[in-house]
Parts: sequence; structure tokens; C-alpha cells
Amino acid sequence: MSSFNDLNLSQEMLSALSAKGFTAPSAIQALVIPEFLREQANIIGQAQTGTGKTAAFSIPILETMQKDGTIKALVLTPTRELALQVCEEMYSLIGSKNLRVAAVYGGASIEQQIKNIRKGCDIIVGTPGRVMDLLDRKVLNFSNIDFFVLDEADEMLNMGFVEDIEQILQSTKEDKKMLFFSATMPKSILEIAKKYMGKYKILKVENKEMTTNLTEQIYYEVKEGDKFEALCRVLDFEQDFFGIIFCRTKIEVDEAVKRLKARGYATESLHGDITQSQRTKTLAEFKEKIINILVATDVAARGIDVNNLTHVINYSIPHEAESYVHRIGRTGRAGNKGIAITFVTPREMSKLGIIKKVTKTDIKKQAVPEIKDIIKAKEDYLQACVHEIIAENDYEYYMKLAKQLLADYEANVVLASLLRQQFQDEFIEASYAKIEQNRNNSNAVPGDNVKLFVALGKKDGMNPRKLLDVLHENCKTPGRKVRDIRIMDKFSFISVPLDEAEIIMGKMNRKNKKMVEVAKN
Ligand code: ADP
Ligand code: MG
Repeated sequence: MSSFNDLNLSQEMLSALSAKGFTAPSAIQALVIPEFLREQANIIGQAQTGTGKTAAFSIPILETMQKDGTIKALVLTPTRELALQVCEEMYSLIGSKNLRVAAVYGGASIEQQIKNIRKGCDIIVGTPGRVMDLLDRKVLNFSNIDFFVLDEADEMLNMGFVEDIEQILQSTKEDKKMLFFSATMPKSILEIAKKYMGKYKILKVENKEMTTNLTEQIYYEVKEGDKFEALCRVLDFEQDFFGIIFCRTKIEVDEAVKRLKARGYATESLHGDITQSQRTKTLAEFKEKIINILVATDVAARGIDVNNLTHVINYSIPHEAESYVHRIGRTGRAGNKGIAITFVTPREMSKLGIIKKVTKTDIKKQAVPEIKDIIKAKEDYLQACVHEIIAENDYEYYMKLAKQLLADYEANVVLASLLRQQFQDEFIEASYAKIEQNRNNSNAVPGDNVKLFVALGKKDGMNPRKLLDVLHENCKTPGRKVRDIRIMDKFSFISVPLDEAEIIMGKMNRKNKKMVEVAKN
């Protein structure tokens, strides 16, 4: 499908799409739109992050919606950020049609949202908590809805919204169409689908590779204590850095932002404890590039809709391959090139090995930029800036002062003094902190041991012997490959070689998704 014109869309929709600058449908849109317009089936749509899933459900819903003064569609999203984004995207697709969409989410005035709903709306986009609250207050009524959408369904379930979703579903009528959209398809989604959808179709866009190939993926092996210095080197080396730095915890985010600010970088933090108004402000500043560095936790960064990131930095390597894919999926989008850099401490090498295997991508080792490279990059950048200003011919204002300065001294003396005044020690190697780099190539090899968490413990009747039996029975794991068995009450730890760890996770997690995981230490 090469054009929206082939999809039997209304003139209003085609104008709205062209106003948005959408020329051709994305793969998931080309699958979902005609299918839904043809037979209004229940649909589970799966495609990678950033592939236009929002429009994939919004377009056919807006095209078939029968306005009758009551709420006709409900879209549930896991975060307020996403609720706002989906709302905005839908709003822009409504174009000249007479439809209203309202977003409802926690962390903002409920009175304001109630007022907005009371003005009359056809579509509600919201987070489960606030939606339930408004249902309780009888402000929302879903007894007439024709469309029920779960956006980022995997994330909704990860965040523990199952019961909320089920409760909200109770308030809807039977014969509605249901659409679930998700980047991944854990079993729990199919379970909900089976329970509530009856018949449904799965429309899936296969990822050729799990990660985009426009993103160059590299890693640095750095000691924990050198990470911050390494980060500054990257930021200094890349003069037009515009990216997200991922940390594992809120504390790590705050710490990094504090230190970055102290060194004069334009940065802000994004995590669960940031107020909604601060978050909105930060995101606006980031989009306008007033700040060029966003430091965030995984969850807080969900759904940030910025397409032209130059870099994603995994300041802390994610625990799960899936999270790695999500994180780096934020760069290399919309045809732009991007770089994903992962900081890996020596003891995290096995985690990197697993991510490489699961994502089937090569993440190449590179050295942290050397101080002399950074200084060279800064010099090049300065020269380029000077060229540009001279080309623009826009320095008249300073001519008089320039002549005065040159009256008493040689040009190079004046210039060097000005540079010192402007840059202080920025170009002096000795002013940079050193980083110890491990230069030998120590990629995780299949022989490396990985510590695994197993969700079976004493309460399940486990002892070391029994656990070995379970592993042998289910995965054919030879007992001699298993080391450091520790049986706790509800779970256990084992160490096994990397290749064996993959087999175990593959077999044990087939039936029950999170039976075995890489231990988080
Ligand atoms: P997903 O939900 O799959 O992660 P989004 O729906 O958020 O992706 O879309 C990602 C970006 O791509 C958005 O900025 C959206 O406006 C844009 N987009 C969606 N469909 C198209 C299209 N057909 N052509 C160009 N851009 C599109
Ligand atoms: Mg989405």
C-alpha cells in the first residue's frame, strides 16, 4: 500500500493526513485500517515502538464513528504523557469533522477535566486510575461506547493495570469493538483478549531486526566510578548532542542531573516523582532544544514523542533486553541516524551478552573518546562557528571594539586572550579527569556465568537437588553446569553459563512468563 488514497478514506481524513504531512501509511496502518474498515473486527495490532500505531487505530475509529452525543470511544493508555499524545494525535486527525476528544489523567485538576467532559465529547483518552475515578463520580458513562482501545497494552499489563482494565470493561456495553495495540505480545495480552474479545484478529508487523538499523549501537566498558566522566566526554565530544540518558533509579537520575548542571550542561530530569507541571515544562524545553539532555528512568520516558534524537545513552545497562530495545528505539527514528551508547561495567558484561543474543544485534565495543579527541572536536567546532559567522557577515556590532583591542597588541595575542576569557580551561588536556579503560576485548562469551533468579523456592518444595531435577526435566540442563545454588523461601538463585541461561529462560518462561530472569544484583 503506497498511499492513503488507496484506503477508501473520507476527504476530511485525507486533508487532515496531508496537513499532518503523512504521505504514506506505515506498515501497521496499512494492515489495520483496511481490515477494520472492511469488517470492524476486534484487532490486536503489534508493531515496534514509533511505527504509527496511534493513527492505525485512530483513523478507522474516526472514520466509522457514529456521533450521537454520548461517549463513543475510550482509549486507555498507561501514562498521562501517552494520554496527552494520543489525544493530540486524534485531535489532529479529526480535522474538519465535528468530533471532540478529551484526555483524562491523574496528577492534574479533576475539576478542570470534569468541566471539559461536560462540554460534551465523543472520545475519551485516559489513564485507568483517573478514568475509574470519573466513572465512580458518574461523570463518565461508557454504556454507549462502540470502540474500546488499549494502547501500549504490554506496558499497561506490566504496570499492573489488569484489574483496573477489567473493572472499566464492566462499565461498557457488550457489542463494542475492541482494539489492543502493543509493541510486544506477552501471553497476558492474549489471555485478556480471549476472555473479553471473543473473536479477534492479530495483525502483526514483523521486526526484521528487533532494533532499527539506522541506530548505530556501541558500548563502552567503564568502571562504575568512571561513568560520569565518560558521560561528560560523550557530551563534550558530540557538539550537537540531543538525547536521552537512561538511568535505573530516580536517585541515579537526580544525582546525574545535579552533577551535569554543576558542570554547566543544559539538562533536566524525568522520573516518577516529577510533578506533572514540571514534566510538561521539561518536555517542552527539550522539544525546543532549550535543554539538549534529558535524564530519565524507563517508565518516565515512555511515550516521549521526540523523533530526532541524536543519542540514547544507557547510563545503566537495562535489566531486560526488551527495555534495551525500547530505549534505543527512541533514536534512529523517521529516517534519522542515531547512536545508542551503553555503559557496561565489567561485572555487567554477561548482561550485555544476553541483550546481544536476544536482540540479535551486534553491539560493538568502542573506547570512550580520549581527551585529545574531545579537544580536537571542540577546536573543529569553534572553527566551524567562526566560518559560519564570517559567512553570515554578522559582526558589525563588534568591529569598533575589535579595532580598539588590536590597537595595542598583535592580533594572535588578542585572539588567544579572548579565547582564554571565553573558554578558560576547556581546551587544556590537564583539566580533564582521567578514565581507566580496559582495552582488551572482553565480550561475554558463552562460557561466562550468568546469575539467574528462579521463581521457585522452599515454599514450592525446592532444595538444591529438587531444583536441579526441575532444570533437568524441563531444560535438560546437566547438573554440573549449575553453580552457586541458593534456595530462598519463595525463589532461588543459580549460576549457569550464558548459553545454558538462554536455554533455561527459553524453556521455563514458555509456560509462565517470568519464571526465570537474569538476577538483578
Ligand atoms: P507507536 O505508537 O507505534 O509507538 P506513534 O503512533 O506514536 O507510534 O507514531 C510515532 C510518530 O510517527 C508520531 O510522531 C506520528 O505522528 C508519526 N507517524 C505516524 N504515522 C505516520 C505516517 N503514516 N507518516 C508519517 N509519520 C507518521
Ligand atoms: Mg503508541
